[in-house]
Amino acid sequence: MKVAVLVVAAGRGSRFGSVTPKQYLPLHGQAILRHSLATFAAHPAIGAIRVVINPADRSLYDLASAGLGLLEPVDGGAERQDSVRLGLQSLAEMNFDAVLIHDAARPFVGRAVIDRVIGALSKAPGVVPGIPVADTLKRTRNDIVTATVPRDGLWRVQTPQGFRMTDILAAHTAVAGQALTDDAAVLEAAGGTVIMVPGDAENIKVTMPDDISLAAIEAPRPLETRTGFGLDVHAFTDGDAVTICGVEIPFRKSLSGHSDADVAMHALTDALYGAIGAGDIGHHFPPSDARWKGCASAVFLRHAAALITARSGRITHVDVTIACEAPRIGPHRIAMTNCLADILNISAGRVSVKATTTEKLGFTGRGEGIAAQAVATVMVPVTDN
Ligand code: MG
Repeated sequence: MKVAVLVVAAGRGSRFGSVTPKQYLPLHGQAILRHSLATFAAHPAIGAIRVVINPADRSLYDLASAGLGLLEPVDGGAERQDSVRLGLQSLAEMNFDAVLIHDAARPFVGRAVIDRVIGALSKAPGVVPGIPVADTLKRTRNDIVTATVPRDGLWRVQTPQGFRMTDILAAHTAVAGQALTDDAAVLEAAGGTVIMVPGDAENIKVTMPDDISLAAIEAPRPLETRTGFGLDVHAFTDGDAVTICGVEIPFRKSLSGHSDADVAMHALTDALYGAIGAGDIGHHFPPSDARWKGCASAVFLRHAAALITARSGRITHVDVTIACEAPRIGPHRIAMTNCLADILNISAGRVSVKATTTEKLGFTGRGEGIAAQAVATVMVPVTDN
């Protein structure tokens, strides 16, 4: 039986109160997502692994999945169920007999559970692993207990949930629009049989900060504040628009440069690299390399942010100052702020974009080009080196 794995990692985990989606938070020095990906990648029965992601998390995903030989990720939809359907559709033409659908937030999935799920797919089109409910269950109304619910036959369901490919794809298509809580429920709603196999008590789902148990698994290291500074200059050349902080502004000239010449984004990228002592843009993206010609500078900025995330750090605040006589920055300031916040995956309140002229003095004053400066403040775990 040819088996694919679909890992659903498109959620942003708003309940978690973290800027970085929980599946990308570190656990034993690696993203939570990477733990289950590595387990599946090492399993001989698994033919391919695809992850459904939020496109905003692409650089986090790239770090979490590096070297595992996965299929290209696909973008998710509005709800988890939409993301699963899109992921299944992306696998439809690849001739898999079965698919295991797994939550990115279950890092401790083990080989034995995977074997049990795959093994039982010979008996039914759907298989879920579960743990019998051990706690006493009560039903209440207005905080008053109205019944003690018999727990016989009740299970807490885990992932990976296994399905025969054609059945689950048809079921997801048939029930699109109905809100169902897991993929087994999708198959059930479409009339398919789902059977239960024993799960694993360690195969927990990371949902809230306190149950992360990560506190016990990985003692948090104290954070310290670091500051980085960046400076960049680009000269004007013939053209009809400039791109500053990701916003294209129609203008009588353009900025000259190897990439899109986004002078302010370059200054900010260097400030972030500087805050963690990670060199500069030219080091990571050499201008001699033709790959970066005309490249959107968001690629550079995302890379710098990803390096901070990879060090278990976070960006506290960034402040960018643009120096030019023209074009006018003011009308675009909010769009620029939002663009930077979006790329850095932080709130707009943590991003400042300012502009100044230089009173017609110097090269910016003479209208020969644009200069930008940036300061980045980040929190990173204290290290001795
Ligand atoms: Mg530059």
